[in-house]
Amino acid sequence: MAAIAEPYRIKMVEPITLTTRAQREEAIRAAGYNTFLLRSDDVYIDLLTDSGTSAMSDRQWSALMLGDEAYAGARSFDHLVAAVRDNYGFPYVCPTHQGRGAEHLISKILIRPGQHVPGNMYFTTTRLHQELAGGTFHDVIIDEAHDPGSLHPFKGNIDIGKLEALVAKVGAENIAYVNVAVTVNMAGGQPVSMENLRAVREVCDRHGIILWSDATRLAENAWFIKHREPGYADRSSASIAREMLSHVDGLTMSGKKDCLVNIGGFLAMRDERILLKARELVVVYEGMPTYGGLAGRDLDAMAVGLHEALDDDYLTHRIGQVAYLGERLSAAGVPIVRPTGGHAVFLDAAAFLDHLSQDELPAQSLAAEIYLDSGVRAMERGIVSAGRDDQGRNRHPKLELVRLTIPRRVYTNSHMDVVADSVIRVHERRRDIGGLEFVYESPTLRFFTSRFAPIAPDVDGSMAGLERGGRDTAALAALA
Ligand SMILES: *Cc1c(COP(=O)(O)O)cnc(C)c1O
Repeated sequence: MAAIAEPYRIKMVEPITLTTRAQREEAIRAAGYNTFLLRSDDVYIDLLTDSGTSAMSDRQWSALMLGDEAYAGARSFDHLVAAVRDNYGFPYVCPTHQGRGAEHLISKILIRPGQHVPGNMYFTTTRLHQELAGGTFHDVIIDEAHDPGSLHPFKGNIDIGKLEALVAKVGAENIAYVNVAVTVNMAGGQPVSMENLRAVREVCDRHGIILWSDATRLAENAWFIKHREPGYADRSSASIAREMLSHVDGLTMSGKKDCLVNIGGFLAMRDERILLKARELVVVYEGMPTYGGLAGRDLDAMAVGLHEALDDDYLTHRIGQVAYLGERLSAAGVPIVRPTGGHAVFLDAAAFLDHLSQDELPAQSLAAEIYLDSGVRAMERGIVSAGRDDQGRNRHPKLELVRLTIPRRVYTNSHMDVVADSVIRVHERRRDIGGLEFVYESPTLRFFTSRFAPIAPDVDGSMAGLERGGRDTAALAALA
């Protein structure tokens, strides 16, 4: 794919800080070797997440000024409803403050305690809300998704055999709904094919099961269908997205991704009974059904952004930028998840640091090391993110990854070159990189707030006292 320049020009700039190695050493230690705990001012290029980090367009900023801040019945809500209807094809919308707000509501609405929820790989907040509602998540993604080397074009697909087997085992009446994520974040931003969506719909219809979608990265998934699936090359990504959603009963959306806003989310659906339930709950947890925890202006910016995100020139540049970074790293022999997905390049930390065991937290360590090298902030997606199971044991996910997540419309390929050069430098001296261990483990979504320290050398204990100086396990135990 030929590189294309940004399909926009820059109207406003935000200065970012260059730091010294000494400053970064201080900062990462203060952050407990968790890149989530770094201060933004200490970061040069921030690839922590693409969530809420998009640059808004002049049209979105204009829409902000037109926001209607009435407590109830604001016209900003009507704008969002119209945008969802026109672009996604759903008549009913319930706004929430962000994606997990929508996940919270739908989990409470559709899951009875003891029921099962199959999905194409877990997502952290999604699974947690399903579990809090009494459900059990089951991963029914195809095996290729767990293989960083597989070049399958639709690594996000649901394995129909696994889905059918689960239905046969627990009974259709014990499946709350099937949740299909487009694209699959934890698999590397990998898409789902239209053929697969049709096949999943067919299974759900045959058993009378609701089919829901985590449509957080819907637009990026549609672009992959256009470019990879036979029969779609001449279609617009916007029309493909409409067709994708025609196969599902409703969606949860994190507006912070493919709606190009800094905050926001919603539920959208076809069934009025689900809407009524959502309205009952949204007033308890979020706000009135016409604002759902957001300002009127946020609804307006989201209504404009969800349409802009479906533009093919924008998507070609966005996904092309991800591919550009991936190609530079691959060419230098850095192990990454291939093919690159929609929103991020995922480093295969297990292969990168193959001298470390998974319990030595290789991805957490690699993310800290990249920050130390250049001030580029990445994120762990491995054993730390996977958390513990209901027996309190560490889950050992097949993928141990570091995510370099690219915010939308924010950085240029010059920034991508800085990132690539840094990761390549770290790769060249990978043998010198050691593991990390927990010094504070947060009980829920532990990757956000846990703290770590370098594992002390076994033989020569000279580092131990130094690095573990801040530890006070007795005090921590008293809090637990
Ligand atoms: C970000 C995300 C969510 C949660 O959305 P928030 O807006 O961060 O609450 C859910 N699912 C997927 C796939 C996501 O990437």
